[in-house]
Amino acid sequence: MKIHEYQAKNLLKSYSIPIPKGTIVKNKKDAISIWEDMKGIPLVVKAQIHSGGRGKAGGVKIVNTKEELVDYVSTLIGTVLYTEQTGKDGMPVECVLVEEALKFKKELYLGFTIDRARACITMLVSSEGGVEIEKIASQSPEKVMVEHIEPLLGLRDFQITRALLLTNIDSKYLRKLSSISKSLYRLFIEKDCSLAEINPLVITEDDEIVAVDAKINFDDNALFRHPEILSLRDYTQENHLEVEAAKYNLNYIKLKGNVGCMVNGAGLAMATMDLIKLVGAEPANFLDVGGGATSQMVKEGFKILLLDKDVKVIFINIFGGILRCDTLARGIVEAAYELQVELPIVIRLEGTNVEEGKRILTESGLSLITAKDMGEAALKVAGALGLTS
Ligand code: GDP
Ligand code: MN
Repeated sequence: MKIHEYQAKNLLKSYSIPIPKGTIVKNKKDAISIWEDMKGIPLVVKAQIHSGGRGKAGGVKIVNTKEELVDYVSTLIGTVLYTEQTGKDGMPVECVLVEEALKFKKELYLGFTIDRARACITMLVSSEGGVEIEKIASQSPEKVMVEHIEPLLGLRDFQITRALLLTNIDSKYLRKLSSISKSLYRLFIEKDCSLAEINPLVITEDDEIVAVDAKINFDDNALFRHPEILSLRDYTQENHLEVEAAKYNLNYIKLKGNVGCMVNGAGLAMATMDLIKLVGAEPANFLDVGGGATSQMVKEGFKILLLDKDVKVIFINIFGGILRCDTLARGIVEAAYELQVELPIVIRLEGTNVEEGKRILTESGLSLITAKDMGEAALKVAGALGLTS
């Protein structure tokens, strides 16, 4: 789960990491009152969306007058922002963060993330923070210091010192930076994060260290332990079909191609994706109805697949175990009638009650493309898309 920058900063503050003075603004009136509260000092206005890269996309701006502030707040709120990370649909800006604009001498990067290959949390530090960090990390990786954290030992002081000394940061900031690193690591552990990143972490003109931006993601599987985090969830920033699927306990993942997939089980989902790619097509999504789906769940799932406008062909690949093929067939037939599906549907069914399932499908009068195995089904999907392979 992701949260907004202002929510992440509130968390940093509760771990004694300094953040700029500011507030969340939802309309013109809020903007005017913060201008008066801050006594006319230059302010920075920041679009709140669940994505980075806002600076480069025009979502962050320093304003020097009340008119400029009100103007910019009004243009941002209610628009959709497209950054390098949002994808083609962009993300809606429903509120902005207005803060005192800091003057700083240096932008640093500090982050904790999970290194999946090494199966450990990793600390990353760089003296070259700011909007170009991704470019720096890929073109000059030696500028980013990396410390792998031994799970049973946790982050050790010598690791923090080593990482900080290897950057070109003046050692007079060592004590403050070390304390911020420890706090951020503690937050990461205590809140079950998958990412906790401060970029930039700035050194101000008065030698203070302040978190100017923050990005914190959480491990969904641990959210049940953190109701205070779950309450920060903002559904406007999530894919609406993924949200809809979650309501019915279905796993739906949006992808970039045009084959809509209904499967049961993560392993079968992966195999289905592989087959689709093998025949030269691309999945638009996958919907995993899981083991214990009812025909109602299948029906809702099928509707979700159809609501995805990128889908040109539907591929149903089910191995009936606990989910019986007849249950699945009933769900599909009901949904197809209710929604008057016109897209080609390729089906491969196997397992419990397969004969009954096939009978329901045949007698439904729907025009379905059936296949006896997965390979044949994938070829028929390619055929329906007009791909020759
Ligand atoms: P991101 O592009 O989504 O990562 O948004 P950031 O919050 O990191 O802002 C982008 C850039 O705007 C930062 O790297 C800073 O260079 C600049 N910026 C943000 N806040 C301030 C501020 O208070 N003062 C100044 N001078 N620059 C700022
Ligand atoms: Mn940033």
